Amino acid sequence: LNVPDHPTIAYIPGDGVGVDIFFAAQRVFDAAVKIVFDGQNKIEWKKLFAGQEAFEKMGDYLPEKTLQAIDDALVTIKGPLMTPVGEGFRSINVALRQKLDLYACVRPVEYFSGISSPLKNPERVNMTIFRENTEDIYAGIEFASGTKEAQKVISFLSDELKVSQIRFPEHSAIGIKPVSTDGTKRLVRAAFDHAVSTDKKRVTFVHKGNIMKFTEGGFRKWAYEVASEYPTFTALDFQKIKAAQGISAAQQAKAEALEAGKIFVDDVIADNFLQQILIRPEQFEVIATLNLNGDYISDALAAEVGGIGIAPGANINFKTGHAIFEATHGTAPDIAGKNLANPSSLILSGVMMFEYLGWTKVAQVIKSALAQTILEQHLTQDLGGNLSTSEFANALIEKISHV
Ligand code: NAD
Repeated sequence: LNVPDHPTIAYIPGDGVGVDIFFAAQRVFDAAVKIVFDGQNKIEWKKLFAGQEAFEKMGDYLPEKTLQAIDDALVTIKGPLMTPVGEGFRSINVALRQKLDLYACVRPVEYFSGISSPLKNPERVNMTIFRENTEDIYAGIEFASGTKEAQKVISFLSDELKVSQIRFPEHSAIGIKPVSTDGTKRLVRAAFDHAVSTDKKRVTFVHKGNIMKFTEGGFRKWAYEVASEYPTFTALDFQKIKAAQGISAAQQAKAEALEAGKIFVDDVIADNFLQQILIRPEQFEVIATLNLNGDYISDALAAEVGGIGIAPGANINFKTGHAIFEATHGTAPDIAGKNLANPSSLILSGVMMFEYLGWTKVAQVIKSALAQTILEQHLTQDLGGNLSTSEFANALIEKISHV
């Protein structure tokens, strides 16, 4: 990206706990930029309205003006947004991702020493998830049980397509799961581009193609097609050589490919993946998966490294360059407004944002201050400490000022 000295970054503080964590995180970002650039560069913050505040001021939870401003901005960073029931959206967050076609949800999962984890050796967890962000059941095509629409779909399925598996036709809700070749391929390419640029050695596709042959199975098939565009040695190559020349020839071919710097590519069924990340998480580096699998996997992995209070994320369209960086958790109504929340999720999303902008030194300064603060056991309550949100941010700023 061509980043000016004073880039404009759009922000939405968010609802509930968003207000607690956003302004704490913003102080940390400004402190790091000031130190790194010796006061020469600075962020021009542009506030946008969405969620509760937008509704109160503008009568709309997701105003067109906000969408236009995100479209115009270099990048956007946001806190969580609450979606009121019956407002025409299933989720404002999902609507934002779909309207801007932010097809890749990128979630790095990394362990910081000093955090207690349910795993014996949590430092083995270090991977980046690429979750497809616009398709799958998140497309929101659902028909409630007993409605005319559900009945129509069920009649079409049984009369036209001769589907006989709907056990209780009068009382079935119906959901549709679109998964496309193009939607899959652009997500998987983003995962491979990341693997190549960060020198990763393994990319794994996670799916349920054993049950959903054409949707999740399609994802697997198209993902392997994308793998052939990159310097890779795949599990399919291994199988082919094994069938023709035996296992030792396949093992040797794999070893030679890895020696030559190729990326190893395989796929794992989602349920097996969820047990593998508990038993042998170190085997995974870059994950590409569908929308719903990615949702489950992200939270399961976050729990292994300290929970959603420290889990960052970004929603990116790598073609247009649009990116929204956000905490992956919700508005946490139980602790909202109490200055108790952990701002680390948003701070680490900011680290991703600075890396994306190419301000890698700023990203490094913030991340190492965070790692050091955690190591010294200055923690918020969710991680077993007693610091408030603002005290935690102050501790980071103190560390940053001594870089
Ligand atoms: P949640 O993530 O808000 O809270 C789950 C639990 O995690 C709560 O106990 C909460 O206190 C805790 N928690 C969350 N963030 C924390 C932090 N930074 N520090 C310490 N503890 C933290 O999930 P929920 O309660 O299911 O959802 C509440 C609302 O958030 C819903 O309206 C939902 O629609 C919305 N939501 C928004 C987003 C988003 O904006 N991306 C994501 C998920 C949910």
